[in-house]
This record gives sequence, structure tokens and C-alpha cells, in this order.
Amino acid sequence: MDAQSIQAFFSTVAGQIDTQAVIENYLAVKDAYAVDKRKLPLPVWARRGLSDSGPQAWRTIQADVSHYQNENGYCIYLHIPFCKEKCVFCDCYSFRLANHSAAVIEKYLSALDLEMQAWNGLGVFQERRLSTVHLGGGTPTFLGMQYFPRLVKALRANFPPNAQTEWALESTSSELDEEMLALMDDLGFTRLHVGVQSLEDRARQSITRRETGANVLKKLEKAIGMGWVVSVDLICGLPHQTAQGWLDDLTRLAQIGVDGFSIYELQVTSRNRRFAQINGLLDADRTERYLYFQAAEQQLSQLGYHKSLFNHFARERDANLYFTFPERGEDCLALGTIADGILGDYHFRHPEYKQYLDTTTALFPGLQGGVRHTQFENLIRPLETALLSGKISQSGLIAVLGPASSAELLEHWKNAKMINEAPAPSSAGQFVLTANGSWFVGEMMDQVASVGRNFSL
Ligand code: SF4
Repeated sequence: MDAQSIQAFFSTVAGQIDTQAVIENYLAVKDAYAVDKRKLPLPVWARRGLSDSGPQAWRTIQADVSHYQNENGYCIYLHIPFCKEKCVFCDCYSFRLANHSAAVIEKYLSALDLEMQAWNGLGVFQERRLSTVHLGGGTPTFLGMQYFPRLVKALRANFPPNAQTEWALESTSSELDEEMLALMDDLGFTRLHVGVQSLEDRARQSITRRETGANVLKKLEKAIGMGWVVSVDLICGLPHQTAQGWLDDLTRLAQIGVDGFSIYELQVTSRNRRFAQINGLLDADRTERYLYFQAAEQQLSQLGYHKSLFNHFARERDANLYFTFPERGEDCLALGTIADGILGDYHFRHPEYKQYLDTTTALFPGLQGGVRHTQFENLIRPLETALLSGKISQSGLIAVLGPASSAELLEHWKNAKMINEAPAPSSAGQFVLTANGSWFVGEMMDQVASVGRNFSL
């Protein structure tokens, strides 16, 4: 791609986007990094696998338990893998529940009950401050009126919340009717993260979303009117998406009062490969997604959103407590199939559905395995956490990489337009990631690790 192609890409939205700024960003970064092959940031267990088996992981956690009795808070992530339909583009770990759904749900909730008892038996979570309970999936609301209250009751009984604990859940707009919103409201939920993906009707049809964009907006507006903190997922790289439609989506969602936006690019994995193939996306040029991301960052910043994670833009009300737990030094207790969490410097992960059901008991939380951070990974963890949070500080870098390497790295990132000085009232030496930085946060983490390894040798 060159400057002319970028002009052409934004020709329909000229005047709404500062195309020259995007071109400058692109030219600043393209020789040092492959824009169409950016790496996604991965947790330690995904980078180098799980070193301990499930039973070993549980023994380790039990042996470490005194370390978890600290003053830091913790959050809970709980995975519900069910959806009414399996969307063709989706690479989440979820599956469609059709017949016999009641029996399947019963079985899964029973396994979750057992898992909660196992964690409860450690005796440490009763005293610690629970910052947030985040239900993800899948579609947690798919549990419906019959099962949702049971799950929340079990969570409250095993992990006592406090008045400040935020109850949040992910859902899809087709699940959001008045009855469901009222139920969740009654149960204490206040934050809703909705997988909107796109409001453009042609793009929505291509991902088999039946509701029109206009209808989705109405539902979100209703939830916001009821006092919910609402954030949305949008995906760039869908078939039939247009630059004009993308900007309109951001504006329309902001106008109805959406509090936060998570911007993703379409990821092709074994779970959605067929969809990608049918739509000619297997070899699609990811540079266009980079351009969508650049446009989103410009537009959202003009609309008054600030970056609270490398890919999340928020207004004041959207604290996004689950995704920001590492920044607060909290642990994450993950529950349910494929959920992964971290206690201190020990990562653990749950297995896929069948194994989870088969192995979970009241004495064993059905773990697949675990892995402890190395000393070096602990050393660079604050830098990785900062980058994922969309920022980096000079003093933080110097503490880990030394002054010379830090200065070199900062200079390189500035030249590649990946960081800017943080705005006032931040002090000198504080930087925020630009759209380039957010796009290449995986590469920035690799650079920190590689420089750090040399420095610590
Ligand atoms: S996009 Fe959401 S609703 Fe669709 S299959 Fe994935 S998790 Fe389920």
C-alpha cells in the first residue's frame, strides 16, 4: 500500500478523516514493521504452553495459597460457552445449543457449582475485595430467566461481593429484551458489553446477524436509558464493510451514549476458517484493517473517548474493570471451560467442555494445567501490563531495561509514531500509545522482552 491507495481508501470519507495524518503514520511505521502481519499480544501460557498438568496446577495453587491472602483485590471471569446460534465469523469458544438445552445447561451449571466449591475450599476469597464479576462467552444471557439467577446466587454464596463490586456481562443484542434487562438489573448487573460488530446491514447479513443495525441501536439506547454502562465490540475486516459505514457506526453509537468501544480485527482461526474462505478473506490484505483502526482512533478521540486499553476507548463511566485488572495488581479467578486466570505469578487454564465436565469435582476445579512466570517474565510484567493498558513510562522502562536501552527504544517508538507524550496533567516521561502503537502492541512487547533479555544477561 502507498499514500495514493490510502487516499483512495478514504476517498468517500474525505473531510471526516485526517487522511494525511494516517498516511504519515503509515509511512513512519511501514519499513520497521509489517503492517499486514501484526502480532497479537499473547498471555504467557499461549506463548510457551502449560508446564504443569491440571492436578499439578491445583497442588501448586493449594501450596501457594498463603500468597493469595493479600490486600489486593481480585476479579472473577466466568465463561458460558452457549449461544442460540453459532455466528459464522465467530472465533470464540462457544457452541450452539438447540435441543435438550435444559439438560445441557443443568449439567454445566452443576460443574460450575462444584468448581466454585473447590475454590471456596481454599478459604482465601472470602476476605479479599472482589472488584468485578464478569460473565463472558458465548452468550451468558442465553441461560435465561430460569438459570441465570441460580448462577448469580452461587457466585454470591461462594465469593462474597461488596457494595462496590461491579457485575458485568457480555451479550448479543438479539438477547436483550426488556424482561432480560430487568432481570439482570434485579440481580445487580450494571455493565453490559454487547457484541455489535457492525451496524452496516450488508455486513451484518454476511455474518448472519438477523437484526438490522437500526434495531440494535434502539435496544442499546433502551439499556443506556435504564442506566446501564454499555460498551460494544466492533470488528473491522468484515465482508461488505465500508469506510463511511465504519465512521457512521462509531458516530451513531456515540450519539446514543455508548460508554466504551473495543475495536478488533477479524481473526481467522480454525473456528471461522470456512467463513473466511467463502468470503475470500483468507488472503485478505490486513492493511485495510489497520486503516479502519486508524480511522476509529481518530474518530473516537474526537468524540471524547480516551484509550483505556490498547484496543478499548472509554468515556468516564466505563471503568472496564475486568480487562484492566492487571493494572490494579489484582488476581483473576477464572471459572468454567477454557477460562484462564492468574493468581500471583501463576497462570492456570481450564480445558475444553467435555474434559471440564468430566474432571470437575468439589475438590478439584477441573483445571487443564498451569504455568508459573519465570523470574524474567516477572521482571518485564509491569512493562507488558503498561503497554496493554495503552501507555508506557520512561521510568518504568529504565527500571527494567536501563537508561541507554530505554532511551533507544523510546526514540525508535517516537520515530515510528507509536507513542506520544501523555497529555497534561501527566508528568514528563509518560507516554500513551498512538494508533500505530496499539496496532503493534504485540511487537512492542516482543521488543521489551528482547531488549530486557540482553540487559539482564
Ligand atoms: S459472536 Fe457472540 S453470539 Fe455469535 S457465536 Fe460468537 S459468542 Fe455467540
